[in-house]
Amino acid sequence: MEETKEAVSLVVVGSLALDTIATPVATRRDVLGGSVSFACAAASFFTRAGMVAVAGADFPESGVEQFRKFGVDLHGLHKVEGKTFRWSGVYEQNMNVRRTLSTELNVFADFSPELPEDYRRSAFLFLANIAPALQLQVLAQIHKPRFVAADTMDLWIRTARDPLMKLISKVDLLLINDSEARELTGKEHLVQVAQQVLEWGPRYVIVKKGEHGSMLFSKSGLILVPAYPVDDVRDPTGAGDSFAGGFMGCLAASGKLTQAAVRRAMVVGTVVASFAVEAFGLDRLAGIARTDIDARGVEFLKMIKV
Ligand code: AMP
Repeated sequence: MEETKEAVSLVVVGSLALDTIATPVATRRDVLGGSVSFACAAASFFTRAGMVAVAGADFPESGVEQFRKFGVDLHGLHKVEGKTFRWSGVYEQNMNVRRTLSTELNVFADFSPELPEDYRRSAFLFLANIAPALQLQVLAQIHKPRFVAADTMDLWIRTARDPLMKLISKVDLLLINDSEARELTGKEHLVQVAQQVLEWGPRYVIVKKGEHGSMLFSKSGLILVPAYPVDDVRDPTGAGDSFAGGFMGCLAASGKLTQAAVRRAMVVGTVVASFAVEAFGLDRLAGIARTDIDARGVEFLKMIKV
């Protein structure tokens, strides 16, 4: 769907959505969203990300244009007959609690992606939140990935546990929010939750705790990063996907998997997510530059230094 051909260093598959979102600040319909959108936009500040997703006939050209402006590679974006994936959710007053009102898979229900040839040689892969069977299908097409991360959600824990467990056993990193991690493992304490996930196969697990930040567990120890304190949260949707996109984009750009690189990626993911929640959809990420991320990163590092 796009002309320029610059090598992709990170492949991302996930939902491409039109979201209807109600927060205490406002309600918006058909906002450009979905896990792949936030993740690719966030990663694009650091590296060339290739999007694997499907859009319905109703997907607006302005959305495609938006991704082009971010510099996302769109050779893996398919446009088909039918309706685009739609999700609708409502946030409570403190915005930590969200209720899903509806999920319509639409064109994702029978999407079977064939990856462009150059995507198959990508070293970094992010399997953003979407049906685990689809995540597995994309993983199977990548020849020799160096680092594979996956995200998921409660819906798949409840309705697609078998493919999800298969997926978890094959990835290097599982990103998951705290309540979903508890549901997945049946354990309460996050240290035990993480130990259980690490026993299933991944080398790393990142437990996302919303406004309380994130925790990365691995055999080499624990990295704790608080959230950047945003004073005007307008829409938390996509915070986790933006964190993950920033994290993976930063790792792919460095090409390193050292402790230092992983620590830096945690900070970068946190900072990118803090921008994403300051407006609906991709609006805030579309209005910033890499220099804004770097500047907030410096400020954030000063804040967390003790
Ligand atoms: P986050 O706030 O990071 O959990 O991500 C929110 C995004 O996830 C929204 O833009 C939704 O379109 C998308 N989403 C919601 N439900 C699903 C689902 N079942 N599968 C894939 N993506 C979803």
